[in-house]
Amino acid sequence: MALNPAKHGIGMTSQRTRERLITRLREEGIRDEVVLAAILGIPRHIFVDEAIASRAYEDTALPIGYGQTISQPYIVARMTEILRSGGPLGKVLEIGTGCGYQTAVLSKVAQEVYSVERISPLLMKARSHLRELRARNVKLKYADGALGIPEMAPFDGIIVTAAATHVPHDLLAQLAVGGRMVIPVGTHEQTLTLIERTPEEFRQTKLEAVKFVPLLGGVS
Ligand code: SAH
Repeated sequence: MALNPAKHGIGMTSQRTRERLITRLREEGIRDEVVLAAILGIPRHIFVDEAIASRAYEDTALPIGYGQTISQPYIVARMTEILRSGGPLGKVLEIGTGCGYQTAVLSKVAQEVYSVERISPLLMKARSHLRELRARNVKLKYADGALGIPEMAPFDGIIVTAAATHVPHDLLAQLAVGGRMVIPVGTHEQTLTLIERTPEEFRQTKLEAVKFVPLLGGVS
């Protein structure tokens, strides 16, 4: 299905605007060409309200309602790059679907994507955006993501897009041996953290300072 120019604003879909974002991401240190191609291929403006769609290709987080945000393209690229670690991804679990932008990017670089969101109307928005993009390898779930999706585990990659005070135990248990989890940990000061599961241990590496909305318990 072609994008509807009346709805999306024909100028915003311009290839040059999107390429400028890719140049910016390269300048910020994103190196994985597979990730950059995925970002180039996903129209970010369809994930935000029309009133702010003209800002969709700026490298900033934007409001999506319900007190939540669409992640900054840099952070989406960075987390996807860390998760891939230069290789293909099988089954991935995302916690915090929001409007589904990161989910859409993941759908381009992983075989199967499962994503969990605790705010029902946001999940409905995400579902319609992902349908528009024909992302058929994505399954969405309305639940408390801290519990993961035990019946679909283990996952080769787990990406948490809300800040946790601690790494949820259920998510660790659902990470495959050889798998990687990227998760922002902390409250006021948050650190993007990589957890790699080896046969013997969960190896933790602190990466960089980030700013996410909090991971909350239960559903709303
Ligand atoms: N991945 C999104 C980022 C959304 S912001 C993007 O691409 O832009 C983080 C999202 O995490 C919010 O929608 C919030 O409702 C959700 N969230 C917070 N705690 C959660 C939980 N315990 N389970 C599932 N989703 C949660």
